[in-house]
Amino acid sequence: MSACGASMEPTGRFQRPNGEYVIVHRCLDCDFERFNRIAADDDFDLVLALPEVPPRTSRDIKAQRLEACLADEQEQWELGSEEAG
Ligand SMILES: [Zn+2]
Repeated sequence: MSACGASMEPTGRFQRPNGEYVIVHRCLDCDFERFNRIAADDDFDLVLALPEVPPRTSRDIKAQRLEACLADEQEQWELGSEEAG
C-alpha cells in the first residue's frame, strides 16, 4: 500500500548494473513509484512478463517530483501576481 492509501500495481521491471532485478510498483491514485528487489519467493516468470522500463532509482524520482513541485509553485505564483496586478 502506498502513502496515500491507494493500492499499488506492478507496472514494470528493470535490471540494475549489478544484475539485480527490480520490480516497479506504481500507486493507482497518485503515481507514486516504489522499487522492490525481487525476493526469493517471487515468481520470476511473472517478473519477466512485466514490461522492461529504463533503470532508475528512488533518488531520480524524488528529483523529478521536486522539479514538478517547483514548477507548480511557480505557476501558482505567476497566476497570483497576475490577479494582484
Ligand atoms: Zn498514492
